[in-house]
Amino acid sequence: MKAAILYGREQVVVEDIPELPLAAGEVRVRIEAALTCGTDLKVYRRGYHARMLTPPCVFGHELAGVISEVHPETAGWTVGDRVVAANSAPCGTCDWCRAGQEQLCSDLLFLNGAYAESIVIPRRVVQKNLCHVEPGTSFRSAAMTEPLACVVQGINDLRLVKGESVLVLGSGPIGLMAVALAKNAGCAVALAGRGGGRLSLGRRLGAEVTMDMAGREDIEAGVREIAPDTRFDVVFEAVGKPSAWEAATRLVRRGGRVNFFGGCPSGTTVQLDTTLIHYSGLTLLASFHHTPASIRRALALIESGVIRGDDFVDGEAPLSALPELFSEMAGGNRAVKTLIHPRR
Ligand SMILES: [Zn+2]
Ligand SMILES: [Zn+2]
Repeated sequence: MKAAILYGREQVVVEDIPELPLAAGEVRVRIEAALTCGTDLKVYRRGYHARMLTPPCVFGHELAGVISEVHPETAGWTVGDRVVAANSAPCGTCDWCRAGQEQLCSDLLFLNGAYAESIVIPRRVVQKNLCHVEPGTSFRSAAMTEPLACVVQGINDLRLVKGESVLVLGSGPIGLMAVALAKNAGCAVALAGRGGGRLSLGRRLGAEVTMDMAGREDIEAGVREIAPDTRFDVVFEAVGKPSAWEAATRLVRRGGRVNFFGGCPSGTTVQLDTTLIHYSGLTLLASFHHTPASIRRALALIESGVIRGDDFVDGEAPLSALPELFSEMAGGNRAVKTLIHPRR
């Protein structure tokens, strides 16, 4: 089968590799849609991922498709089933799993290899994070289940109340999904980000105000200039820069909540005003990853039409074009998500 192999920093080659045999509990999925993601771009730039990927290796982690083979000792699945698989599965037995914090499982099993014609889904993912996709749901929408589940987790942790004002910092796919979910929760949403196309998508997804931060280094000053009188009950940070984390604490109202959702480069730190945090009674939290429950909530949001793949997928490419696509992404192309067709 054809698969994209990551060899190292900015080195990806599409090759023919042998299909792995199935073990008990496993299924093979013929991939119908794989989506590009900022995490894959980070992996491409860096050439590895400390917790997930050691090259040479297959990569890509947002996928949906059809089961093409079932091991005789795998129960509950049939060839032809339309499915989406998450990119990980928790162990179910560690302290964190038992406490219901499966996203922090001490033995998360990661699954990569979406940029390929097919993928073997390991037993644990089959058991915990493989889901049926309804016939009416497109594969491109279903493939958004995993990133959406992370945002579902982040929005859920914030306990949004209908009518609250929410500021989303960052207009990448994650920030845009946060806009849609906050709107769906009945909140008044403002979006501060970059890119005309992304900001107009933000408006379509429910942002009442969009703020173009292009050319502005100081996020706080930019937001205050454009929306001087707005008090934000909640700030959802989806930029992943220390300066954005800091700005989030200064933009939320007294008694408000901040979710530091965007992962910053490792080793970075932030400076927080202790007086501000303490006397303003701020609630600061950081959400990471997803749980089997948030995966299912995300898929339900997709199947009910709250989140639609067509809104987020603004480019398509065959698997053979993946190396050029990633080099363009590394050069700053502003696509939200590109759909990879494995067999074109
Ligand atoms: Zn992703
Ligand atoms: Zn665990």
